[in-house]
Amino acid sequence: MGKMKGALIGCGFFAVNQMHGWRDLADVKIVAICDRDPERLRIVGDQFAVARRHQSAEDMFAEGGFDFVDIATTVGSHRALVELAARHAVPAICQKPFAPTLADAKAMVAAAEAAGIPLMIHENFRWQTPILAVKAVLDSGAIGDPFWGRVSFRSGFDVFSGQPYLAKGKRFIIEDLGIHSLDIARFLFGDAGRMTARTRRINPDIAGEDVATMLLDHDNGVTSIVDVSYATRLPEEPFPETFVEIDGSAGTLRLGKDYTLTVHGAAGTARSVVAPALLPWASRPWHNIQESVALIQKHWAERLAEGREPDTSGRDNLKTFALVEAAYLSAERGETVAIADLL
Ligand code: NAD
Repeated sequence: MGKMKGALIGCGFFAVNQMHGWRDLADVKIVAICDRDPERLRIVGDQFAVARRHQSAEDMFAEGGFDFVDIATTVGSHRALVELAARHAVPAICQKPFAPTLADAKAMVAAAEAAGIPLMIHENFRWQTPILAVKAVLDSGAIGDPFWGRVSFRSGFDVFSGQPYLAKGKRFIIEDLGIHSLDIARFLFGDAGRMTARTRRINPDIAGEDVATMLLDHDNGVTSIVDVSYATRLPEEPFPETFVEIDGSAGTLRLGKDYTLTVHGAAGTARSVVAPALLPWASRPWHNIQESVALIQKHWAERLAEGREPDTSGRDNLKTFALVEAAYLSAERGETVAIADLL
C-alpha cells in the first residue's frame, strides 16, 4: 500500500510541530500545504520540502489529491474549514479549541457525520507520556477506585510572545489551556455532569481571564478540581507540566514537578520518573507537548487506516468543549451548571 497523503492548512507557530510529527510517520506524506500568508507558506514549505502550496483552502480542495486534511489554523476559521472538508468528503483533523461556540462545534460534528467522514480534534494533552502513565496506574487498580482528583496547571510562562492572539480574546485560559486540563480530567475520571467555576484576570495587559478554578462532579462519583493559571510565579517554572493528584480507595497517586510519579498503595510506595522523550526536533520545555503531537497524529493515521473512530473524535470532544462553555457560564452566573443542559 502507498503512503497516506495529507494536506495541512495553517502554517503558523504550532503547525511546525505537526509537520515534524507527520514527517516522522513512515506511512504518511504531506503533499500540500495552505496558508493565506505567503511568508508562512514559504517558510514551512521550504523547511519541509513541500512543493504544492496554496493560499486558498478552496483551491487546494478543488485540486484534491490527498486522503485527509490537518487544520492547524486559529479557532475563527475552524468551522468553515471543517465544513469545506466535509463538502469534499475528506477526513479532517481540527486543532483545539474546537470552535468559537458549542453551537458551531455541534454543526461541525453534524457536517462530518452527514458527509460520512471521520473528524478528530487535535486534543493532544491526554497523549502526553506522564498523563498516559497516570492512566495506566489507575487502570492497574493499584490505588483502588478513585474518589477525588486534581488536575493542575499553574505557571508564569510568557505564552503571549509566541502566540500574541492569546492576549486579545475575551476568553483566554479556559478556552486555550483549561480545555486540555478538562479533557485530561475526562480521560482519567470519566464524563462530568456538573461544573462550578470561578475565574480571575490578574495580568492587566490581557483581555481574558488568566486564572480559573473548576469543580467537576463526574458521573461515577469522582469529585475533581481542575485549576489553571498563567499568573502564578513559582521559584521553579513548571511550564508546560500538568500536575495530577488522585486519592483512591486503596491508595494515592501524585504526578509532580519534573515528571515524578509517586504511587502509594497496599504494596508500598513506588517513585518513578515518567518524563517524555526529547524527540530530535523538539526543544525544552515544549518537548512534552511536542511528543504528544507525534503520538496523536500516529493514532489518527492508525485509526484512519483501520476505519475506526479516533479517541478524541468530534463527537467525543463535544463533551470536553461543553465543560469549557459550562465553566464560563458558571463563573459568569455564580451558579453550578448541568452539562446535559448544554449538549
Ligand atoms: P498562528 O496564528 O501562529 O497560525 C495560524 C496560521 O493559520 C497563520 O499562519 C494564518 O495565516 C493561517 N490561517 C488562518 N486562517 C486561515 C485560512 N482560513 N486559510 C489559510 N490559512 C489560514 O496560530 P498558532 O499559535 O499556530 O495556533 C493555531 C492553532 O493551534 C490554535 O487553534 C491554537 O489554539 C492551537 N494550538 C494548539 C496547541 C496544542 O498543544 N494542541 C498548542 C498551541 C496552539
